[in-house]
Amino acid sequence: MPARAYLGLGSNLNHPPRQIKSAIQAIAKLPGTRLKCCAPWYQSIAIGPGSQPRYINTAVEIDTVLKPRALLQALQQIEQQQGRKRIVRWGPRTLDLDILLYANQALHTRRLQIPHPRLGERNFVLYPLADIAPGLNLPDGTSLASLLAKSSPAGIVRLNAGGSGGRAG
Ligand code: ADP
Ligand code: MG
Repeated sequence: MPARAYLGLGSNLNHPPRQIKSAIQAIAKLPGTRLKCCAPWYQSIAIGPGSQPRYINTAVEIDTVLKPRALLQALQQIEQQQGRKRIVRWGPRTLDLDILLYANQALHTRRLQIPHPRLGERNFVLYPLADIAPGLNLPDGTSLASLLAKSSPAGIVRLNAGGSGGRAG
């Protein structure tokens, strides 16, 4: 049985819309993985060091037979393929792919934490996720809706034209 997972995507370098589009195509081609749904895109002001270009952020829903660690590895490979260089923590990047949620699993290892540890505090993650899965609950029972209610939309703008929102299959 495949697991349903939600991924967060972000880019603020080297033509972000192109990066996001090609990341979604790569995710759709992962072994044992079906892309179910793509959230609208958001433009967000960068957090992190220095002044950085704005981000494009979105989220996707997938069904996958890849286990969490294999999925992380596959996503990091896509980040690498799209030229991500890890120079500064939270510095600008061509592509950031995060596992936000994986089935109803909680995982706390050094290399992988699920739900994503900063899910609740990042509006640019919460908003696109809620667009595609408004009724979601975290493994500890917290509802996405309650996190969203506490989160301000400051610094993010929904891009109606740029996004490829919609549900497939
Ligand atoms: P961030 O995504 O917080 O901006 P990075 O992309 O630089 O930061 O992530 C650094 C590390 O976070 C990765 O090497 C990975 O091992 C770890 N990590 C822990 N949990 C997750 C997760 N749920 N999804 C993606 N990466 C994760
Ligand atoms: Mg990341």
